[in-house]
Amino acid sequence: MKKMETELAQIGTRKESKTGAINFPVYYATAYEHVGGVSTGYDYTRTANPTRDVLEESIAKLERGDAGFACSSGMAAIQTVMGLFSQGDHLIVSLDLYGGTYRLFEETLRRYGLHFSYVDLRNIEEVEGSIQENTRAFFIETPTNPLMRVADLQALCHLAQKHDILTIVDNTFLTPYYQRPLELGVDVVVHSATKYLGGHNDILAGLVVTKGNELSERVKYLHNAIGACLSPHDCYLLMRGMKTLALRMDRHQENAWQLAEFLRKHPLINGEVFYPALDETERDIHQKQANGFGGMLSFRLADANLIRPFLNRLELITFAESLGGVESLITYPATQTHADIPEEIRLKVGVCDRLLRLSVGIEHVDDLRSDLEQALAFALEQP
Ligand SMILES: *Cc1c(COP(=O)(O)O)cnc(C)c1O
Repeated sequence: MKKMETELAQIGTRKESKTGAINFPVYYATAYEHVGGVSTGYDYTRTANPTRDVLEESIAKLERGDAGFACSSGMAAIQTVMGLFSQGDHLIVSLDLYGGTYRLFEETLRRYGLHFSYVDLRNIEEVEGSIQENTRAFFIETPTNPLMRVADLQALCHLAQKHDILTIVDNTFLTPYYQRPLELGVDVVVHSATKYLGGHNDILAGLVVTKGNELSERVKYLHNAIGACLSPHDCYLLMRGMKTLALRMDRHQENAWQLAEFLRKHPLINGEVFYPALDETERDIHQKQANGFGGMLSFRLADANLIRPFLNRLELITFAESLGGVESLITYPATQTHADIPEEIRLKVGVCDRLLRLSVGIEHVDDLRSDLEQALAFALEQP
């Protein structure tokens, strides 16, 4: 197998033998002729589309899985996977996780009779103690959004196998370039490809990758039956973005590491910076299962009253609700990504009113550091 940088750069290349097009073309057709009464393998675009096929094969290969599925958003990808479960099933879920996933589980799927327990997945005993007779899956974010907590994937997989439980990892933050959960025994990977895989804050997309034939067939069935498929045009844009993933991730990480160090030493932050490379225990676990720390970090300002002047004063880093693009974005989880989590739970898991989440872009790190520095200095001067 080629190195990942090579696989990424050549997504879709040498797949179109008729013309030799370097980039795989976009097939907009929704219906396909059955020449002589025989299907070409393409009948109707929801079931299969040539452009989508290339993307799906690529992500399956990158994640070292057996099948890939491109969905209209990260949430659509998660919803599709959740179609595997039935009324009465129970899932164990990361304690702090993407607010939209929490909302889907609590506001929608709970009404369909699914049950969820939110557990600090760093604590294997607590996870084991939460397993019930009807527990069907672990839904894992590592690192978590927004507190960057690291779960031990091998330990969780070991526990899951013992109890015949499915493991699902949301790999949005690290991408297959840094972390390949399926190699560690995980069954399903989901992505919000809107983030790093797309990488340019200009497409909404989700991906699922499965391991094993039976599971792949079941998800394939659900993907077609539910129909939250990615449009051919967006498949094309996503592949274009993915070609530069390796370059981007390396720069995101380099910048994030330097900013994490800078913020940690800043007097207005009291050392409260969350980045998987900083905590010794989490770093050791993380390094067993991933070959990079990524470009996301969170930090707490000393006082919630500093948040508003700080955010207003930023000039380069944009106050906006997303992550993983080339441009640096900063998010206030309490009022944005995690606003739908009840305050009591939000505070209990540590997503407090002093917390900010930074998606470090690929700009020059000196400019990013200066922007943070001047905005922090301004916030401090406020009465
Ligand atoms: C954004 C995000 C999602 C949801 O993806 P969409 O593409 O916005 O639907 C799920 N998980 C994580 C970790 C995310 O950051």
